[in-house]
Amino acid sequence: MSTALADPLELQRHAPIPTWFHIGGRADAFARPTSHDQLADLLRRDPSLRILGDGANLLVHDEGVADTVVSLAAPAFSGWQIDARTGIVRAGAGANLPKLIHATIREGLAGLEVLGGVPASLGGALVMNAGGAFGQIADVVRSVTALARDGSTVHLTRQQIAFAYRSSGLEGLIITGCELALTPADPAPLRERLLDIMAKKKASQPLAAHSAGCVWKNPTLPHDHPALGPAGARVSAGMVIDRAGLKGLAVGGASISPVHANFVVTDTAVATAQHVIDLMIETRRRVFDTFGVTLHPEVVIWRRRSLGLDPAGVAP
Ligand SMILES: Cc1cc2nc3c(=O)[nH]c(=O)nc-3n(C[C@H](O)[C@H](O)[C@H](O)COP(=O)(O)OP(=O)(O)OC[C@H]3O[C@@H](n4cnc5c(N)ncnc54)[C@H](O)[C@@H]3O)c2cc1C
Repeated sequence: MSTALADPLELQRHAPIPTWFHIGGRADAFARPTSHDQLADLLRRDPSLRILGDGANLLVHDEGVADTVVSLAAPAFSGWQIDARTGIVRAGAGANLPKLIHATIREGLAGLEVLGGVPASLGGALVMNAGGAFGQIADVVRSVTALARDGSTVHLTRQQIAFAYRSSGLEGLIITGCELALTPADPAPLRERLLDIMAKKKASQPLAAHSAGCVWKNPTLPHDHPALGPAGARVSAGMVIDRAGLKGLAVGGASISPVHANFVVTDTAVATAQHVIDLMIETRRRVFDTFGVTLHPEVVIWRRRSLGLDPAGVAP
């Protein structure tokens, strides 16, 4: 049930939170601001609000969340301007990344095609430093604009952002937009490269299933291991889970994909967020017992009383 308040922000009560897992709890309050003033107002009223991007890397605990959940999908936050001559792209944090990739390729700009097959809002891609074997978004970021929790505007240049493997240091800020620096190029080979990347992902990932992509970060080996690699090497979490014999392991309606061992897929008829969490705890335990390697979650888990990016939910 949604209740439109007298408030022009139209807070929706007890609202579903759409994620790619297609499971999980609701938001006590959900808002889709249509202007920067509305977003600032929301922040004044609830400084611990959470931003929902595309929900592609998110597990919401079954009990839902008390903080206001805010979507930046409205046009005020999701548009873009592309300067094909300089390669500079100015885009809102709510912009849909796959659509932006296509738009920049059409304009003959290289740089984003490496993120083909990554479902995301631009804001979510920046916070997670989305990427993989072909490249990462940090490589094309020029600057990021955000709101701090006290409502002040923050403008960070690329050099001021602590991008690292699947993290950015931007966690906690409310990203509203960014500038990307792309490179003028012939669109035809860019299109081919995108298709090639998408085909590789289609062949190796369960893209038709409900998932959040990789649930674990690729671990760094603490010691030499004959089956995995030398100490200090960053190895594929999927490979480690596979070699621990865990493909197909299931808890309730959540299971480790037989196609890619780093994907947890959900049978939405029966799965709960707790099933996913219990499966992650069991996976982490068995991988540690088998190889002495500790897995760290890539997926963000939202719980009722803590801010996002809280991996504590899967601590054994
Ligand atoms: C099929 C599939 C394949 C995938 N493949 C890849 C891959 O190859 N590489 C990869 O890196 N990821 C991959 N992912 C995971 C996901 O696509 C990325 O992590 C993506 O960056 C998530 O963006 P989002 O907008 O969906 O963020 P969400 O899942 O909505 O949110 C993730 C976190 O970002 C925060 N956030 C979102 N927007 C903002 C904002 N504007 N300001 C502040 N915080 C914000 C949220 O609060 C949350 O903490 C895949 C997922 C799926 C389902």
